[in-house]
Amino acid sequence: MDDDVARILLHREQIQARVRTLAAEIAAGYAHHERGLTIVPILAGSIIFLADLIRELPMKMKIAVVQLSTYPGRSVTAGEPRILMELAGDVRDRHVLIVDDILDTGRTLRHVQEMIRRREPASLQTAVFLRKPGKAPPDLRVDFVGFDIEDLFVVGYGLDFGDLYRNYPHIGVLRAELMP
Ligand code: 5GP
Ligand code: MG
Repeated sequence: MDDDVARILLHREQIQARVRTLAAEIAAGYAHHERGLTIVPILAGSIIFLADLIRELPMKMKIAVVQLSTYPGRSVTAGEPRILMELAGDVRDRHVLIVDDILDTGRTLRHVQEMIRRREPASLQTAVFLRKPGKAPPDLRVDFVGFDIEDLFVVGYGLDFGDLYRNYPHIGVLRAELMP
């Protein structure tokens, strides 16, 4: 995988340190209502972030996954989000924290936030590992952000290209000749 990556934007040590401080921010935010927390990870991109993040959170929680598809196959431009797996678990009257890998245009998060709001949670917040500048509408609320990055297509730490590179431990940019 190393040979396929042109540039590393974030090293695993940097990522680990930030996930720890982010978890502390989130834990502080939920200190007053730590009962009834449900984490809603958006599969599959959030899996590595999710695993690292929730082990740094000291409170009890349930996990209710959803799966969407925005980047069909090997494309790097987003289409309309499509639900592949419905929310597993009831979020009504629970404090819900959506966890996603990256905020780009915001279409994915908008879709999931609306789906959860319709189910009347006690509260709803969103945490993303990465955020790209500028493309998401200003009214889309994201409460916790790991890193702001340049507007580049990145892989690693859960993020894929053609379903590969999710296990790459850093956040990197692929060599141009590998991209369509
Ligand atoms: P949005 O709906 O905000 O445009 O895109 C969010 C989803 O698109 C993310 O959950 C992620 O799966 C995918 N995505 C957006 N930007 C990137 C990127 O730079 N790299 C990868 N691998 N996926 C991305
Ligand atoms: Mg995703």
